[in-house]
Amino acid sequence: MAILEIKDLHVSVATDEGPEPILNGVDLTVKGGETHAIMGPNGSGKSTLAYSVAGHPKYEVTSGEVLLDGENVLEMGVDERARAGLFLAMQYPVEVPGVSMSNFLRTAATAVRGQAPAVRHWVKEVKQAMADLEIDPAFAERSVNEGFSGGEKKRHEILQLALLKPQMAILDETDSGLDVDALRVVSDGVNRYKGANPEIGIMLITHYTRILKHITPDFVHVFSRGRIVESGGPELAERLEEEGYVRFTGKQEPAG
Ligand code: ADP
Ligand code: MG
Ligand code: MG
Repeated sequence: MAILEIKDLHVSVATDEGPEPILNGVDLTVKGGETHAIMGPNGSGKSTLAYSVAGHPKYEVTSGEVLLDGENVLEMGVDERARAGLFLAMQYPVEVPGVSMSNFLRTAATAVRGQAPAVRHWVKEVKQAMADLEIDPAFAERSVNEGFSGGEKKRHEILQLALLKPQMAILDETDSGLDVDALRVVSDGVNRYKGANPEIGIMLITHYTRILKHITPDFVHVFSRGRIVESGGPELAERLEEEGYVRFTGKQEPAG
């Protein structure tokens, strides 16, 4: 089973005034089969963690390690990370005009699998995955993310998850911008994938507890000022829902 190890990770982001430290020593291990929720107030560095593992060029790792099955992820190119079984929804471009979803997904699947999926199987696979996620078939012919609503983008992320079949998935704010129905469809999509692939490890990054009513985490971590300051089980999310983040930030910021 896969194991993702983040060790004493320090990351700076490039700004006009020079590099600014954002992550201040993140330690986290996610094993295959486990779902870890990363919760934290706005600006605490949750997305920076995801981007850093994704290899976004704006984020500079100043020290620490990220290992997937003992291999140094930080030295891998973006495609290599995907081939190694790491899935990061945001590693994909925001909009790709002129490239249809179906071509984009096939190219991504080819990169991950090392060979192009056989056309007949592929068409069936995509159709099934889209039906599962209640995605309109016309969606396959639209350009990637062009004019997509927030909900469509999130469904698209879970569609990629279902088709690329990673071993370790990092999902950042999968619940943001979703209405109740879309949240259910997206959560069901994650749960269906986990049901079919119980060895997947999931890092679910979220400010709010509501998605955790649908996707039950094994572990909950609180992120504050660029590091994990508390870890526990699902009961920690319940406590955050009641108390917000005031205990960590000194100011009232609801988590529910
Ligand atoms: P979260 O996802 O927890 O809301 P972020 O990782 O987005 O937190 O941001 C953490 C801090 O890093 C914030 O102060 C934010 O302004 C800063 N930051 C993150 N990304 C960038 C960026 N690309 N350019 C400048 N500042 C950034
Ligand atoms: Mg934010
Ligand atoms: Mg964020």
